[in-house]
Amino acid sequence: MMKRFPPRKSRQPGMRVPASETPAASQRRQEKQLRTCLGCGAKDRQEHLLPLAFTGPGRVGPDVERRLPGRHVYCCRTEVCLKRLMKNRKRVARALRAEAVEFDEGLQSLFGSVVA
Ligand SMILES: [Zn+2]
Repeated sequence: MMKRFPPRKSRQPGMRVPASETPAASQRRQEKQLRTCLGCGAKDRQEHLLPLAFTGPGRVGPDVERRLPGRHVYCCRTEVCLKRLMKNRKRVARALRAEAVEFDEGLQSLFGSVVA
């Protein structure tokens, strides 16, 4: 009987990770990606800011894990900036290429959790 290589671990279909998404590659990419806080206009690295995206038609909410598709806007993780951002819906709408936006109620509840 011929000697065989040990069997490979069975691969789970649909669990493929793109080769470009190694931790090092994504880190390198993120370091260059400065985002603007729509509350105060300061620029910071994406991972320091709070991402917001459409959670439903015309509704914008937090996307802390960055799982939502489409455009994102960013905000400092401070109550001051988030409140300022929420007062300026037109700016958020423009940044998201939308006519108008409403904010999820969940956005308010972020104060004290991911927002200091
Ligand atoms: Zn800010």
